[in-house]
Amino acid sequence: MKNIEIVRIFREISYLIQIAENDPNTIFKVRAYEKAADVIENLSMDLEEIYLENGIAGLRKIPSVGSAISLKIEEFIKLHKIAYHEELKKKIPIKISEFSNMRGIGPKTIKTLYEKLKITTVSELEKAALEGRIAKLKGFSKMKESNILKTIQLSKKNKSRHLLGDIYPLIKKIESRLTEEESVINCATVGSFRRMKETIGDIDILVSTEEPEKVVNFFVNMPEVEEIRGRGRTKAFVELRNGIGVDLLVVPEESFGSASQYFTGNKDHNISLRNLAISKGFHLNEWGLFTKKKKKVAGINEKEIYELLDLQYIPPELREDCGEIEFFSKKKKGNLALVEYGDLKGDLHTHSDSTDGTMSIKDMALQARKKFGLDYIAITDHTRSLRLANGLNENQLLAQINKIQELNDAFKEYSTDTRFRILSSAEVNILRDGTLDIPNNILDKLDIVGAAIHSNFSLSKDIQTERLVKAAKNPSVDLLCHPTGRIINKREGYSVDIEKIIDIAHETRTVLEINSNYHRLDLKDEHIRLAVQNGTKLAINSDAHHPVHFAYLLFGIGQARRGWAKKTDVINTLEVDSLLKELK
Ligand SMILES: [Zn+2]
Ligand SMILES: [Zn+2]
Repeated sequence: MKNIEIVRIFREISYLIQIAENDPNTIFKVRAYEKAADVIENLSMDLEEIYLENGIAGLRKIPSVGSAISLKIEEFIKLHKIAYHEELKKKIPIKISEFSNMRGIGPKTIKTLYEKLKITTVSELEKAALEGRIAKLKGFSKMKESNILKTIQLSKKNKSRHLLGDIYPLIKKIESRLTEEESVINCATVGSFRRMKETIGDIDILVSTEEPEKVVNFFVNMPEVEEIRGRGRTKAFVELRNGIGVDLLVVPEESFGSASQYFTGNKDHNISLRNLAISKGFHLNEWGLFTKKKKKVAGINEKEIYELLDLQYIPPELREDCGEIEFFSKKKKGNLALVEYGDLKGDLHTHSDSTDGTMSIKDMALQARKKFGLDYIAITDHTRSLRLANGLNENQLLAQINKIQELNDAFKEYSTDTRFRILSSAEVNILRDGTLDIPNNILDKLDIVGAAIHSNFSLSKDIQTERLVKAAKNPSVDLLCHPTGRIINKREGYSVDIEKIIDIAHETRTVLEINSNYHRLDLKDEHIRLAVQNGTKLAINSDAHHPVHFAYLLFGIGQARRGWAKKTDVINTLEVDSLLKELK
């Protein structure tokens, strides 16, 4: 499993190049490494396997992997290191891994701080900031210094937690490898991972078997394991190479259900459920559900436990003690048709290479159809005031509408699969005063209009809220994208009265997005629940900048379920014609 290590090294290289090299052309090199890292991160296949089967040619077929990058991958597979990376590290003794996930402290800042103050670690940076030495540097200020301190605090707070999307593919791979192992009867990853929480501490994997020692042995010898932290006859605790801790718990098959029940819910959920069991004359623990006379009455699966406790099955994402035990009691007959993982028909937020995406509209469409089975996607490229992303102006946007029309016609003409449709759209920039950077008469020619904030994050709560309210009230705006602007572990969202936004969205029939990019997951689960209670419509979108990002939709659905969103709350579960009718 070299993918994760290669991703880490490529990101470090791109970072180090920006510090080490002064040539303005390095930006292309930097982007090449970043793009390759993005793609490899989401690759479902193992690079080493691809290489062993098809060599360099196989690697080059991966999008964004050119000849230089493929040689670096080969070098790593053969030598377990990349000479260019080692050279850069020698030249720049900065601890990049400490800085790389700190938003607002980019390579340029690091470079200056290294040259002027010889800072190479985060603790040296913190010390310099606390001593007020940073504010005195040219190009810095008191404000910048205090922002640096805030960022350090935030990253300290979140250090031990991993983003769900960062570890998801690897954990699923380990899970399926264990499942395929002969001596394993059942295997499931439980805990917050199963609840699809946006960040995860440690991973708990549960296995049932009649040969515990064999399974434990197989587990601790997996190639991803960096260090065995502990092992017993029926359990083991290891640290993986990416720094995450994984617990393996081995139980007999007859207790697999009770153990997965026990290890999935959060603490409060488990306490409530155990109390419910007691109130019904039972005793519940990880080994099973028992009567007062210690007779075991359930345990092999979760369903039979819930059944005996007069509950309907509670979906794992809801096991957080947020009213679910009461809601799912059979007496109450609560019926919740949660949005399911296969329910999405389309994606209403995707980018093409017309702006900052990396693939043509056609390729985005073909992959969305072929690999992800979607019936429609909206191409929501950025608009003109977002210069960093080469935003489209009015004429370019009109030209894009024609291009999309032609592509749709061509699909119809050349394909037996006439179902697929590209929707013309845009992720229109909301300006400081809440107006948009494209006039309504142009926007009205689009199938659907998304709007988003990409600047002026530090406005006061009132002004920021008003800004979004004005955008929602704009009759052309159908969708508010990533409504709070947060980046998990890196940037708090802008200050906004979310309840007011949810209300106004409902009133104006504006849809709120659940952005599935696992760095964003914006709206949060608690906001989704508020929106659902309020009857405000939602859309679960990928914000894909490359077709591999369609895989993120899974995280958006998980988040929606955590917010108790039903299929009917999510407009892109609709067929395209009904969807277009539903928009304001
Ligand atoms: Zn955006
Ligand atoms: Zn976007």
